[in-house]
Amino acid sequence: MTDFPYADRFEVHETLPEDGRSREEILAELREMAAAEDAFWETGKASGTVYCGDHDHYAFMTETYGLFGHANVLQRDMFPSATKFEGEILAMTLDLMHADAVTGATPGGVVTTGGTGSILHAMLAYRDGAGRERPNIVKPETAHPAFDKAGHLFGIEVREAPVDPHTTQVDVCAVADLIDMDTVALIGSAGNYGYGTIDPIAELSELALSCGVGLHVDACLGGFILPFGEELGLDIPVFDFRLPGVTSISADTHKYGYGLKGTSTLLFRDSALRNVLYFLNTGWSGGKYLSPGIEGSRSGGLLAATWAGMVRLGRSGYRRHAGQIFETARQMIGAVRSHTELRVLGEPTFLFSFTSDEFDIYHVYDFMAGRGWRLNGQQYPNAVHMAVTRPQTRPGVAEAFAADLAEAVPYAIKQQAAGEAPMSGAVYGGVPGGLTDEADDFIRQVMAGMLDTQQSLPPAAR
Ligand SMILES: *Cc1c(COP(=O)(O)O)cnc(C)c1O
Repeated sequence: MTDFPYADRFEVHETLPEDGRSREEILAELREMAAAEDAFWETGKASGTVYCGDHDHYAFMTETYGLFGHANVLQRDMFPSATKFEGEILAMTLDLMHADAVTGATPGGVVTTGGTGSILHAMLAYRDGAGRERPNIVKPETAHPAFDKAGHLFGIEVREAPVDPHTTQVDVCAVADLIDMDTVALIGSAGNYGYGTIDPIAELSELALSCGVGLHVDACLGGFILPFGEELGLDIPVFDFRLPGVTSISADTHKYGYGLKGTSTLLFRDSALRNVLYFLNTGWSGGKYLSPGIEGSRSGGLLAATWAGMVRLGRSGYRRHAGQIFETARQMIGAVRSHTELRVLGEPTFLFSFTSDEFDIYHVYDFMAGRGWRLNGQQYPNAVHMAVTRPQTRPGVAEAFAADLAEAVPYAIKQQAAGEAPMSGAVYGGVPGGLTDEADDFIRQVMAGMLDTQQSLPPAAR
């Protein structure tokens, strides 16, 4: 299973080369790899992943990264610029999430390494802030696995509430039934990764207030696009700090914030909860150690690039991109709805998922894959989704989607009638390969393939 990308094209380093190679040679190799990899998503046929896709904007952010890539954010006395960048990224995002509506507390936040980082920090804050012996959180089934990861790492029980199969929104009564004295937080998504739909956050807010528990809104995906949808007049329900029960929000700068990969924001209604994350060891022989969150050293470059990308785009830039994405998604959703055999799940706006009651939707996935599309596979029920990003807004992409889909449907009908099994399966991140529940071993091999080089494996396994 493990393949060794580029082993046949470029020199493989099993040990550190004795003498360094030339910069030109290294750059030439990397340019070749980058160009080959960019060529795929530039077609606009890859769901999600590359949210911005504007090489000019990337080059600008990379230039700003270069000025501070070597700066350690932990040493603020040497790099006070990090305080400016981090503070302003947080202030701008708090503003976007209507922290101005907060009364009786001072909002605050942290910049983390990604959506998972923000969710981990949030759950740690709820655990330590509440001080329960056996803490639990209640999440919609559709909430991101990062919450399960937090439960696993921090010893928090994760209780799962079902969603309505038609709206794909969490069943708030089921959430209420799962709350007890040891519940430290409820979770809602705006929107969720699978269906792009938004949980009934206003109802969850009421419930959280009445039970005296926290409510984390996972806006990792929607945080930098939904507010602009609201400004553009789309029917986007309020999900932010305007709802009094919302105590924290995660919003990813490295998704629809269009930043370089490696940053996300975690925002708190009351910075007192954020401060629970502070770590100090004042008795260490190495000196008094303190860090605001889980990470130690962090790069000033990512803060600078994130900040620069945000102020370069401005509200009008985000609004313009959001408008194009919503419009493209509307066209693509229309194409899906034009086929009576297909069914869109819930009422999505920028990421949509669809299934079929007449055939296994993975036949459609297979056909679309043959046409160069990289959709994301889902399960229970089998479905596929497309997260519309800026590469899909390029001319002709939505039209190509509609045209390929129009051929995929009769293909699926034919395959189903012939009793053929589809070739693809559901893996987050889209690694295809006919997966079943018993595919544990296969999945472990996929992960080993991400980490192991040819040389770190025994010869027999190469
Ligand atoms: C992507 C995503 C996450 C996790 O973010 P990473 O940046 O991949 O760690 C969490 N929640 C939602 C809804 C997401 O889409």
